[in-house]
Parts: sequence; C-alpha cells; structure tokens
Amino acid sequence: MRRSVDRWNPQKKIIAEAARALVRGELVAFPTETVYGLGANGLDAEAVRAIYRAKGRPSDNPLILHLANPGEAESVAFVDDRARRLINLFWPGPLTLVLPARTGVVPPVTRGGLETVALRMPSHPVALALIEATALPVAAPSANRSGRPSPTDADAVEEDLGESLAYLLDGGPTDVGVESTVVDATGKDLLLLRPGALPLEVIAEAEGQVGLAQAGEGRRSPGTRYRHYAPDVPLLIWDGPLHWEALPGPVGYMGMADPPRPAGESVLFRTVDDYGRGLFSALRHLERAGVAVIVAQWPPQEGIGLALRDRLLRASGEG
Ligand code: AMP
Ligand code: MG
Repeated sequence: MRRSVDRWNPQKKIIAEAARALVRGELVAFPTETVYGLGANGLDAEAVRAIYRAKGRPSDNPLILHLANPGEAESVAFVDDRARRLINLFWPGPLTLVLPARTGVVPPVTRGGLETVALRMPSHPVALALIEATALPVAAPSANRSGRPSPTDADAVEEDLGESLAYLLDGGPTDVGVESTVVDATGKDLLLLRPGALPLEVIAEAEGQVGLAQAGEGRRSPGTRYRHYAPDVPLLIWDGPLHWEALPGPVGYMGMADPPRPAGESVLFRTVDDYGRGLFSALRHLERAGVAVIVAQWPPQEGIGLALRDRLLRASGEG
C-alpha cells in the first residue's frame, strides 16, 4: 500500500501502521537521505530472506542495518573508540560502518554469512520515525531489483518492487541520490569499501588516511563484486574523444556540459551534486525514452564525484 508522508512531520498513524508491518515480518519501503530503502526486521531471518527474494539479490551480499540512535550500535556490534568518534561526527548521515558483529544477535543471513555487520543511522525524518517506532534494527538495502538503478523516488520503487511491499512510504524525491559511503572499521586502518554520499575527503579530514579496498582483495565489499545499476541499454562514459557519429541512434545523454552533438534525449545537471541527485532517475528516464545508447559525462572526482564515477563505471560494465 502506497502512502504519502510529510517528510518534515511524518504522520504518526501511517508510521505506526508501517512499523507494525515490519514487526510482523513484512517488507516496507521508505525514503532515506540517500536512496529509498527496502526494509525488514534485521533480527528476523525469515523477514530478511524476503528482502533477498524480492530484490533477486545474491545471498552472500550482506545488508546494512539501519538504527534510530547511535547507542544501538553497541548492542549488535563491538564499537571501539575510533568507531565511536566516527559515529559522533557523522551520524545521523550517509556513513555506513562495518564493525565486528556480536555473536548471536544479528542472524547470519543479514550479514551475508560474515563475522561483521554494517550499520548506519540515516538522517531522513521518515526513516528515523519508522525505525524508532519498530524499536528494531531495520535491514534495508536499496529498494530496487538487483542490478537496476537505485530508486530515488517512490515511482521507481513501485516499478521494481510494488508487489512485494506491505507499505511504500512516499516522502518525495531523495536528497543526495547516491548510496551511503561504506567504511570497514574492523582493521588497523580504515578501509573504503564503497564510495558514497559522504565524501572521502570529509572522512579523511577527521581521521587521516583512509585506505581504498582493491578489487580482488578479500575484504572488498561483497556487493561490489556484482554488476550494479545496469540500465537496459549500453552506457558509455564521455571523457574526451568519443566517436559520436558512430553511435547508434537515438543517443541519450547526461552530464554537466552540453553534449558536443545534439542528443535524442538529454538530461543536464548544473552541479556535481545535481548530477548525484539525478543520476539514477536519469538512467531510468533515458531508458524509458527508448534511446539506443546512453552517454554519460565523466564527472570531476571531488565530493560526491568519486561515488558518481564508481556508479558510472559499474553501470557501463567496466567497474
Ligand atoms: P545496498 O544495501 O544495496 O546499498 O548495499 C550495501 C553495501 O554494503 C553492499 O555493497 C554490501 O556488500 C556492503 N556491506 C554490507 N554489509 C557488509 C559487511 N558486513 N562487510 C562488508 N560490506 C558490507
Ligand atoms: Mg543497492
């Protein structure tokens, strides 16, 4: 059931109904500041299995547990001083921390069988109200079918997962449009597992050097092994020379600069933040417009740009 919620003042009755559905083991999609999440009770193995089924997600790709307050991290994971510092600085917000899991609390299926658990406290008022009302850690991957662009509005969620949901809370388009930054804080050095909405520079400024997990390294985030964000048509990155005249038409274009040749359909962004906010919906829009190929301008690396580059590489099949 799709329900509109006021993002600044979520209606208590709707939140309570959706929270009851989560407690019963059903699936609820809700907005976060990054993208829409597909939520289930993270402590209920059956409910979590329903997430994997609905998304068609490989079962070795663990889920992020969403919390309503920072103190709850201690009940599911071991939180050391460094992790506590990061939590104090960046929660609520788009930083996911991978920490050693306490045994016997979070079922292995939520953790993709790993000894670690990924945690974050979102800042979106609807997400916070919903999680708070369940009094549970809510497992919530992006609310798209596996391999599809992440959903940044309720229509995209409905398109991919409508039938699997007890509730779809529609809080309008999301703010950031790119998923959270995932940092492994289990080892001696912090390790970036997935660039995301919280810029790497901001974390590095607070904590010093953050290592980058390399492909093939055992500790790389399991999710990054899979091709993600694949639109139904080929995606090419425009980073200088490109034989535009040889492209099959009609061409779909997205970027911050005008395309060097007129495109069949284009989406222009004013800033790199706009590009971040609009990337996934632009992919869905261009695909629907029936273009034969999508050309995406390579964004600058700063701020959200690093995460955008990662998503574009993976959408193009090169990541
Ligand atoms: P999604 O929920 O679709 O935004 O993806 C969550 C990301 O977090 C995926 O890339 C997962 O592989 C990653 N992740 C979740 N839990 C862990 C964990 N315990 N260790 C490493 N990566 C994780
Ligand atoms: Mg995802």
